[in-house]
Amino acid sequence: MGISVIWSVIAILVRWIFSKRRGAISYDSSDQTALYIRMLGACVIFKQLFSRDVRVRSQVGFEPERRGSHPYLGVDFRTLHSRAESAGSIPARRIRRLFSFQRHLLSSRFLRGAPHLNPLHILDEDYCGQAKCMLEKVGSWNFDIFLFDRLTNGNSLVTLTLYLLSHYGLIELFQLDMVKVHRFLVLVQEDYHNHNPYHNSVHAADVTQAMHCYLKEPKLAKSLTSCDILLGLLAAVTHDLDHPGVNQPFLIKTNHYLAALYRNTSVLENHHWRSAVGLLRETELFSHLPAEDSLNMERQLGSLILATDISRQNEYLSKFRTHLDQEDLCLGNASHRHFVLQMALKCADICNPCRPWELSKQWSEKVTEEFFHQGDIEKKHKLEVSPLCDSETNSIADVQIGFMTYVVEPLFAEWARFSDTRLSQTMLGHLCLNKASWNAMQPEASGSSEELESEQEASSRALPQGSPQS
Ligand SMILES: [Zn+2]
Repeated sequence: MGISVIWSVIAILVRWIFSKRRGAISYDSSDQTALYIRMLGACVIFKQLFSRDVRVRSQVGFEPERRGSHPYLGVDFRTLHSRAESAGSIPARRIRRLFSFQRHLLSSRFLRGAPHLNPLHILDEDYCGQAKCMLEKVGSWNFDIFLFDRLTNGNSLVTLTLYLLSHYGLIELFQLDMVKVHRFLVLVQEDYHNHNPYHNSVHAADVTQAMHCYLKEPKLAKSLTSCDILLGLLAAVTHDLDHPGVNQPFLIKTNHYLAALYRNTSVLENHHWRSAVGLLRETELFSHLPAEDSLNMERQLGSLILATDISRQNEYLSKFRTHLDQEDLCLGNASHRHFVLQMALKCADICNPCRPWELSKQWSEKVTEEFFHQGDIEKKHKLEVSPLCDSETNSIADVQIGFMTYVVEPLFAEWARFSDTRLSQTMLGHLCLNKASWNAMQPEASGSSEELESEQEASSRALPQGSPQS
């Protein structure tokens, strides 16, 4: 009896503390994390309360509380990729936030065609005008997200997503409150670590733009519901939310609390999903919908984000292959549509090698920089260096050729079987050309320029010219 009373008191206390904290994820009986918490002793529960997987905003602004928990590393994972500029200074963050929101409002005015009266904003007008022009071609596979990010002053994710939500008529259809939508997107954009060379808000914007290209593909466009489209876009926008810039094996070997919280399974993806749910609840974006519907949206969002776990690639790929072999994908069926959305998000997430060379090369450099940075930290702390993370034994070309051959090509080959369109052929064409370019940069390939030229010629023939997507 004594123990059960103590547990009841603890449960009430836990519920009370959680209810006092904004943006908290509720821990109901069906939640795995709740089970995790209940299995632990009381002192661990209280420790967990102050280091759990939610973000907390204090009175003075955004103040994430997560910290690396390795007993001897003591690494703050939020600042892993920080450079000289201080990453954690609250005033700087607040100024940037205010600035970005003002710039965003200004962009919105121009996107609506409202003139600005202040002549000092002539440069802003110019940039916004160019950004607006770019949005008219947002469905192009050549869309330069880096340029768009510069033109929107680092607000590519907010600006692009607002445009797409409006383009698909989702704001009216789901009766979304524009203030809440703005707030949600600004918070999402902020919760990406822009000090990460690769896993930052520009990557999220790029994946969202690719997702838009796939949603427009004829097979999907004629069968997806508005709810599918909303979920597909939201999943793309949030799929790497609060990414620490290191991979799951790193979190496991450094005993990071997220690895313990999610039991070493899809640690990052679970964290991205729960972070997204936290922001959805904090901003009350779906609070006007029936509770059952918004819970269902959260679950589906999770299922989409969890599908981006690259370690489960073969599982999804063989399921996709089986469906294609048996020709039994029926997009009138909601579960089949959801599966196709999962595959579309997976493609969007790793589509960098299928972009035109000028864009693809930049992404390759950024992702390798992030890998090598992790390797440097591992070396510094005398940990085993993760595969592909050692800058002394790997080159960008090595890393890219392996990734293209074993991960990207098999996925996009199946995607092209499913969606045999000009876009899927364009993507395969770029993939082939880009691989040839990286091969040419390998030291041993330097003498075989003739071979490269013939390979590139063959690749060019595979690439449809003048395609609206290319
Ligand atoms: Zn990603």
